[in-house]
Amino acid sequence: MFDACAPIEEYLRQGAPEIPAGYYLSNKRTDNKPNSHHASSASIELDGKVIGSCLRAQFYAWKGFPITNEPDIGVLFNFHCGHWFEAMYAFGLDLLKIPHQREVIVNQDWGLDYKIGGRLDFMVADEAVELKTSYGRSMEFDKSWSVVNGKNKSTKGLFKPKDSHALQIAVYLNSGIKVCNNPVFARDSFYRVNFRLNLCEEGIETTNSVNSDLAVLPYTKDKILARWTKLDKCLKDNIAPAPDFDSGYPCKAGKYTCQWYDLCKGENND
Ligand code: SF4
Repeated sequence: MFDACAPIEEYLRQGAPEIPAGYYLSNKRTDNKPNSHHASSASIELDGKVIGSCLRAQFYAWKGFPITNEPDIGVLFNFHCGHWFEAMYAFGLDLLKIPHQREVIVNQDWGLDYKIGGRLDFMVADEAVELKTSYGRSMEFDKSWSVVNGKNKSTKGLFKPKDSHALQIAVYLNSGIKVCNNPVFARDSFYRVNFRLNLCEEGIETTNSVNSDLAVLPYTKDKILARWTKLDKCLKDNIAPAPDFDSGYPCKAGKYTCQWYDLCKGENND
């Protein structure tokens, strides 16, 4: 089986050689107005609770509302860590002489007003790799990633991917990808784990490289479609959806603040 953490381990073993500029492809990414429903903005409603991206924030992005809350420097650092790890990963794949494709475009028609878009980090043979970085303490010590999903007892306590990552990957798996690896590297401790995800009857299922947990997540195409269908209507009617969240993440938590926090919460307070 493909060891999805190996490329960065190999890169470090070889003495962290200088990465040529061409490996930083992801720096081309911009935050322009969307023209498709991006996989990373997928969300679902489960037991009356929204999991994933806020529709109101997506509406603001689609309509080109200027952001009212600039990302904090710590958030920008986290964002750029993703680019650095992707460059290391690509270099590591080359060091291991593993053939691969980078930044593979996903462009699918799911019958919505707009297409589904996305950019997979890597394809290695017929397996996808969507690489993420994280604050390691929550993975290694608190295991706070593992207790989520509200009332869904079947996944409570299991070690599984972060919800937003699992939802993004659920979009890829419903767009023709059979297996998606999700290697996650801790920015602080270099704790690392690879989650392997595939479709199953209930949604998606995942195993991991650390323990024998099998997590089944009810993140189905129908549930993802229902949310984007609602957004399409709001975009057509030019009416912002109601806020999906009251407080906490993704509105405001720690160093992270929603980029339209003042606009959204200001409007609500009027
Ligand atoms: S502040 Fe919260 S509810 Fe408002 S747009 Fe941002 S994430 Fe959504």
